[in-house]
Amino acid sequence: MGNPTEYFGSLVFNDEVMRARLPKEIYDTLKARINDNQPLDRAIANEVASAMKDWAVEKGATHFTHWFQPMTGITAEKHDSFITPVGDGSKIILDFSGKELIKGEPDASSFPSGGLRATFEARGYTAWDPTSYAFIKDNTLCIPTAFCSYGGEALDKKTPLLRSMEALNTHAVRVLHAIGNTEVHSVYTTVGAEQEYFLVDKAYYDRRKDLIYTGRTLFGTMPPKGQEMDDHYFGVIKPRVKAFMKELNDELWKLGVLAKTEHNEAAPAQHELAPIFSSANIAADHNQLTMEIMKKIAANHGLVCLLHEKPFEGVNGSGKHDNWAMCTDTGENLFNPGKHPYENTRFLLLLCAVIKAVDDYQDLLRISVASAGNDHRLGAHEAPPAIVSMFLGDELCDILTAIRDGREYHDRKSIRMEVGAHVLPTFSKDTTDRNRTSPFAFTGNKFEFRMVGSSMSVSDANVVLNTAVAEVLSGFADILEAADDTEKAMLNIIKSTVRDHERIIFNGNNYSDEWVAEAQRRGLLNLRSTPDALPHFVDKKNIELFTKHNVFTTAEMYSRLEILLETYNKTVCIEGKTALDILRRKITPSVISYCKELAESINAKRAALPEVNVDAELDMLSILSNASGELYKVAKELDDAVKYAAGISDAQLAARAYHDRVLDAMSRARKIADAAETLIPKWPIASYSKLLYGV
Ligand code: ADP
Ligand code: MG
Repeated sequence: MGNPTEYFGSLVFNDEVMRARLPKEIYDTLKARINDNQPLDRAIANEVASAMKDWAVEKGATHFTHWFQPMTGITAEKHDSFITPVGDGSKIILDFSGKELIKGEPDASSFPSGGLRATFEARGYTAWDPTSYAFIKDNTLCIPTAFCSYGGEALDKKTPLLRSMEALNTHAVRVLHAIGNTEVHSVYTTVGAEQEYFLVDKAYYDRRKDLIYTGRTLFGTMPPKGQEMDDHYFGVIKPRVKAFMKELNDELWKLGVLAKTEHNEAAPAQHELAPIFSSANIAADHNQLTMEIMKKIAANHGLVCLLHEKPFEGVNGSGKHDNWAMCTDTGENLFNPGKHPYENTRFLLLLCAVIKAVDDYQDLLRISVASAGNDHRLGAHEAPPAIVSMFLGDELCDILTAIRDGREYHDRKSIRMEVGAHVLPTFSKDTTDRNRTSPFAFTGNKFEFRMVGSSMSVSDANVVLNTAVAEVLSGFADILEAADDTEKAMLNIIKSTVRDHERIIFNGNNYSDEWVAEAQRRGLLNLRSTPDALPHFVDKKNIELFTKHNVFTTAEMYSRLEILLETYNKTVCIEGKTALDILRRKITPSVISYCKELAESINAKRAALPEVNVDAELDMLSILSNASGELYKVAKELDDAVKYAAGISDAQLAARAYHDRVLDAMSRARKIADAAETLIPKWPIASYSKLLYGV
């Protein structure tokens, strides 16, 4: 494959390619329009399209597609070839126009729209996002696009992300200008999404209808060894997995994805890939690509990549840590504490903006990560709980408390400082990065939101973060713009924010029961499950937030809520039906037929020797006969529960029923089935031991 510096980005129509292939004035205009967020005129679009097509054809592409991210959470594409007939149609040329580049009209009636688009006006349209580079995948030129209804309502994950970045930009720049940073023209959010995943052998996967239909195992007992020895975490990577990772890196690098760190995770067969961060929009696109390519490459190695949040019970699930910060067009990370007193006050001011945003919009952050899959992970003793809180580390907390109380601050090396003079010690990253249990941690120069599920798009979480912080910054900007003494105003904002929002800060162990009680005392929300969380999306304050910053219209919010609820309901419905199928057609018959074997053995032994000891068989027969009876009964209950929930037309009420009745029946069935599995030598579905250890 050669040297990565040579093939990195080779499948991307990036800045370097554009500069080389576009006439200078076209290139300059394109860049200027992108920077100012202005639409392109047709003549320029034609030039860009033609250069893109020539480049893509040289690289072997025959088709193009508008690549977009509908509300299904995965990406969608419809391929068109470049061919255009000439003359009498016996010859073709390859053609791609500016019109085709800028706008597409997929027949999109089957994508979820939450009622926004009646089928008679089914046409949605896709619009080119020139801030994310086009790339080639499967011999197809992929053009990153936003997806909207004919009336302009967002039907995707990209549109609100771009809008939220714009809102944050507006108010962050206002704040920076008000405090004198007039050299800054724009602020964007940076994101690094660490991706966890499992790899299992395809041969065993194929013997698991639950994995195939639902992405997680609905039955199965842990083998004698789980993750308790901590010997997988950061352990030596097996050759087959290593080969997968190498091919994955090569493919991602060609696509310009900055894949950087790879290691084994806590659970057996679990791994992680972390990229170097980039702008939030690009990071979201790249994370979608990463998930897609992971699945594709796994197949080349006889493996299946599981992105579900909780594929196995009894070992860790998978998340996606969303590392988030704000960066100026002058290249400064605004969460770098910095060395000068002045930079430190600014840092504390922006830190306070995040503290207030997280406290005021705990519910939205929780909702942004709510899904049927992630419910199995949040709150289990391995992932952050469903309660949103923030970790800042002792040092920062001491500083903030000192400011709140108007006290002098003594740093840990006993250096006396006067806080009013804006002096902050340059603290090392090490003091801030050691709480793995916090859902939202400050880690030295960025925040890490750890509740995002492994299979989710990172867009939703970042839409909430960007918009909530934009809202707080807009309030700060109002005060600062009107202040005579800006420094004093900054300090007052810091003081009052700490006073009013310190309840959201918690540096202790988020997995402990004491924290749950303490959080309740503090009045923090504990939205345990998706049906508990989702309805708050359209609370008055949340509608006000998103509509004020033009991120969502009220109609878009209701449509999103509808889609989220429907997705939850469909997911649990499929799980319930799959569990029922496995119970009735695999597990219960296996238990019954093993009972028959035991009975035959008892009869045969007794016929041969009337006084023979058949205690073992009798005992097992009794346990397993009971189990088969209970399995039969619980299957009936599950069947009824699924039918009951499916018959409810109100999506919110249906979600409750899926949660309270279907999931409940499934977990009761699982307990009985898993206990039976430990007693039966030939189990009808691939065991955890095979899936996790290959034995
Ligand atoms: P660790 O969390 O293991 O200490 P790092 O802090 O180096 O590792 O990075 C974790 C992730 O955070 C990486 O994906 C990295 O690119 C990302 N990251 C680092 N700095 C920023 C930043 N300023 N904005 C967004 N993401 C960042
Ligand atoms: Mg991390």
